[in-house]
Amino acid sequence: MWPTLIIFLLLAGLIALHFGWRRRMQRERRAWQATLAQREHQDLVQTAEARARQDALLDSMIEGVLVLDENGRVQFANRAFAAMFATLGELRGQTVVEAVRMDEVAELVARTDHEGRVMDHELRLPGDPEKWLQINAAAISNVERRRLGTVLVFHELTRLKKLERTRADFVANVSHELRTPLSLIKGYAETLLDGAKDNPEVSGKFLLAIDRNARRLDFLIQDLLTISALESGRVALNLQPVTPRALAEKVLSDLKSRADARRVQLVNALPDLTVQADADRLEQVLGNLLDNAVKYGREGGTVTVGGRPTDEGKIELFVRDDGPGIPAEALERVFERFYRVDKARSREQGGTGLGLAIVKHIVQSHGGTVWAKSEVGAGATFYFTLAAAG
Ligand code: ADP
Repeated sequence: MWPTLIIFLLLAGLIALHFGWRRRMQRERRAWQATLAQREHQDLVQTAEARARQDALLDSMIEGVLVLDENGRVQFANRAFAAMFATLGELRGQTVVEAVRMDEVAELVARTDHEGRVMDHELRLPGDPEKWLQINAAAISNVERRRLGTVLVFHELTRLKKLERTRADFVANVSHELRTPLSLIKGYAETLLDGAKDNPEVSGKFLLAIDRNARRLDFLIQDLLTISALESGRVALNLQPVTPRALAEKVLSDLKSRADARRVQLVNALPDLTVQADADRLEQVLGNLLDNAVKYGREGGTVTVGGRPTDEGKIELFVRDDGPGIPAEALERVFERFYRVDKARSREQGGTGLGLAIVKHIVQSHGGTVWAKSEVGAGATFYFTLAAAG
């Protein structure tokens, strides 16, 4: 009897122990699963946060960024990229050609996959106005050198391209402008040497023509040096209170003999105003505008310089003539370097085509604006603003 009882008790004890142990195990497993689920959730939240941070960072870049997966499909494109290519809707999953509609970019991706990276590739986007981008592309691989995709970074290049073109055009224009008087001087000198020097009447005329063209060259070089000094920022403005009326009086007296030659009446209608300006530069502005008004205005006409305080607290000055005026389509272009409405007329008058470009530069460096108004046949008026003194 006793042994059976002991075995029974032992068995009962073992069974109780087993259930107790199982319950504990289940409890621990449940706790462990809960911890795991919590950790997974935390990881997910952290990954989502990291991705959001990364997307926000890439979206705040001014460069366009395009990330392709190993199959060449879009994995990520930032906001700047979408704006550069004016893409619509979700790009993820599209091929490069579907995303940007340009074979050249797809070819660039193929080249990058082959060469590992492609730097400074210049891309012209179709459309008007034309746009230029510079692309740097690199293939991305993991540590086992397995290809994961391609990253492309797009930089805006339009402004730089425009500057390059303006500079090239400027050099071409300068060469052309220098060549014209030079070839005339050369032609007259050669004709003189070939025998014309022995004819006093002809030689006198030729020498005058040489002198006129040499002077034109001199004006041109002076204006070029002024433009170059203004653009390089080497000219520091000596701002002080200046009375435009007194300055205009000086400029008008310098112009008097030229005005008399064209029977042009000069009127100083400036009230007593004081502006904050560099006196020498303001004299140059008034000089160029008044010189043009005498040159291009009506023979026997009137040239007026005047001004008024504006409602915005600035001073507006103007130079007016009653000549043939400027056609509407040329009103803004006359401020471009070497732009002339009537090329022959400008040359004949000894113009360099740089006078108004210099005026615009000086006014803008004072923080002012310059513009022209005209009614063809009734004259032209050039306006500019400056800060009032005090
Ligand atoms: P330019 O040396 O040829 O005078 P500017 O830059 O001073 O060069 O002027 C550019 C062009 O603007 C001139 O060639 C001329 O065609 C036009 N222009 C300037 N001022 C006047 C004006 N008062 N009336 C008519 N045309 C003008």
